Amino acid sequence: MVMRRSFSLTTVLIVSSAFGYVFFYFIAPRVAVPFFDGSPASAAYASAPVSVADLYANYDAVTSSKKTRVLIVPGHEPGSGGAEFHGAKEHDMVVEIAQYLQRYMDTQGNYTTIMTRDAFAWNPIFARYFTENKDAIEVWDAAARQSAASLGLDTLPLVDHLSAPTNVALRLYGITKWADENAIDITLHLHFNDHDRPRLSAPGPYSGVAIYVPAQQYDNSATSKAVATSILRRLSMYNPVSNLPEESGGVIEDPQLIAVGAHNTAGSATMLIEYDYIYQPQFANAKVRSLALQDLAYQTYLGVQDFFTRHASTTSTDSYDPSTLYAWRTPVAGVDADPKDTYALQTALLMDGDFPPAGKSLHSCPHSGAFGACTRAAIVTFQKKNAIENENGVGAKTFALLQKIYWKE
Ligand SMILES: [Zn+2]
Repeated sequence: MVMRRSFSLTTVLIVSSAFGYVFFYFIAPRVAVPFFDGSPASAAYASAPVSVADLYANYDAVTSSKKTRVLIVPGHEPGSGGAEFHGAKEHDMVVEIAQYLQRYMDTQGNYTTIMTRDAFAWNPIFARYFTENKDAIEVWDAAARQSAASLGLDTLPLVDHLSAPTNVALRLYGITKWADENAIDITLHLHFNDHDRPRLSAPGPYSGVAIYVPAQQYDNSATSKAVATSILRRLSMYNPVSNLPEESGGVIEDPQLIAVGAHNTAGSATMLIEYDYIYQPQFANAKVRSLALQDLAYQTYLGVQDFFTRHASTTSTDSYDPSTLYAWRTPVAGVDADPKDTYALQTALLMDGDFPPAGKSLHSCPHSGAFGACTRAAIVTFQKKNAIENENGVGAKTFALLQKIYWKE
C-alpha cells in the first residue's frame, strides 16, 4: 500500500512564484556531507537530478570509495502500517526483501547500500535526521510545493492511494530530502499492494506487480522510468504484471506519491515497487513465504544489474541459477509436497516455458508453491516434450532432467 501526499503539513514559507524553482534548490542544496560508508558524496550531480548517463558513468567508474549509492526503503514504519493477510504483514515482509536485496547488492561490489529501517527500529541515521530536521523538512517541502505549483507540475493521480498521516508523511519527505543531500543514485521503496475487498479474510480479484515512478513532468522521471522498466522486466518473468486496469503496463507515473517525489522533490532515480498483492498465496503460506520474498529480492537485484550491464553489452543473458535461492533435492508428486520444493519445481517449469500451462496466466496459475491442477498440467507438458512416460507428478526421470537443466549445483 502506498502513501499519497498529505495536505496537512504546515506551510511555513511563501515563495514568490517567479523565483520558486531557483529558491527550491537554494533551500535544498545537495551539500557534500559524509556518506554512510565514510566516503564523501559525489559532486557530479550535487545540484541536478541524476540522469541515465550519470548512473552509467558512476557505475562504470566504480572505485572502492565511489560506488553506485542505493537507498532501500522498506515501506511503512517499524512494526506498523501496511497491508495484512492471514499472518502475512507487509511492514515486515518488505524488510525481509530489503535485507536480501542489500546482501545481493553489497556482494556484487559496484553498489553501496543503506536501509532506512529494519523490522524493529529506524536506522539511527534516519531517526536522528527526522528529529533534528523536522522544521527543515517542513520548510523544504513547503518551498518545493510552492515551486511545483507555480510551474503547473501537480496534476491528479491516476490511482487512488491512501493518505499518509502527517508524521508518516513528514518522515517520507525526510527520506527524500536525505537522499537528495546524500547524492543517492537510486531509491527503492518496497511495498505490497492491496485492494478493497468486501471480506478481508478472502483474497481480492487482482494480482501482480506494479512499479510507480515520478510523473513525466518531474525532473527525475525519465531516469526513474528507465531503471523501473528494467526491474519490471525481471520481475514479470516470474510474476504477473498487475491486472488492476489502472496499473496496466506495470510502470505507472504518479505525480502525488510522496515516496516518488511528489511536487518534484526527488533527485535520484526513485520508484515504489508494489510487489504483488498481499493476499497472493505464496505470502499467506508461511512455509514458502521467505523463499518467495528472497526470489523477489533476487529478481529486483537482477533488474538493476540489467539496467547497468545491458547498455554496454549485448551478451547479457536472462537466465540465472535458481539453486542460489534454494537447494531443491526432492521429487514433487502431489499436494503433500514441501511447498518450497513445489515452488522450486514451478520455477524450473517457468524457465522451461511450461508454467503456467497453455491457456492459463500467472494470475490464474500463480507461482505459489501450491501443488494443484496448474502444476500437474505443466509437468505433463514437460514430460511429453521430453518423452518421459509413466510418471505421476515429478518422478525420478523428470526430477533428474529438470535438475540437470535448471538446478546446476
Ligand atoms: Zn505499502
